[in-house]
Amino acid sequence: METIWTPHRFSGEVLALDVANTVVLRDDPHRTFDRFEQHDEIVRFARAATAFRAEEIGGNTLAVSDPTGAKPRIVALREATDALFRDASASGAVQSERLAPLLDHCARALAAAPVMLAADHAGPKAGQGTIELEAAVAVSALSLLAPDMRRRIRICGNCGWLFLDRSRNGSRVWCDMTVCGNRRKARRHYRRRRGGEGRQVDA
Ligand SMILES: [Zn+2]
Repeated sequence: METIWTPHRFSGEVLALDVANTVVLRDDPHRTFDRFEQHDEIVRFARAATAFRAEEIGGNTLAVSDPTGAKPRIVALREATDALFRDASASGAVQSERLAPLLDHCARALAAAPVMLAADHAGPKAGQGTIELEAAVAVSALSLLAPDMRRRIRICGNCGWLFLDRSRNGSRVWCDMTVCGNRRKARRHYRRRRGGEGRQVDA
């Protein structure tokens, strides 16, 4: 089934976390699935991310020129990103055994797909035209290692996605209030009335 890349699926607020969230319900072995299983979806994600992450990527266009070749590198980078920042968000610290694979997969992506970085902020330089998704994801993941970024990474209280909390007081609990916040409220209401269980997601 084709994914519709809605704004909700870009709730990570930053490209590397949007990519991490392409695995849905990581903590539920029976319901988890990977939106990047099909090569086509990685290409379609790149197209959507070009619009949703325009500011972060310097207004360049994200492309996946060789989906078959890039997919294993993108997936490995995604998994290393999720592992490090999920753990860092929960524990408040970065473990070197999670940092080493992330740096390794960032290096592989950047070696495969060169990109110029901006001089004044953490992101690709504007005006390059087309850049490869894997290079942009690597730059995005590296930017999250800065302590002022890292300490704002949260795990959604409903669906388990990672997101960057840009709110002033740093108190966001949901990746997306309109989806996960409301779902959780509805579920609480349902349980009070019926004693039901279960988690609804619209990932
Ligand atoms: Zn959520």
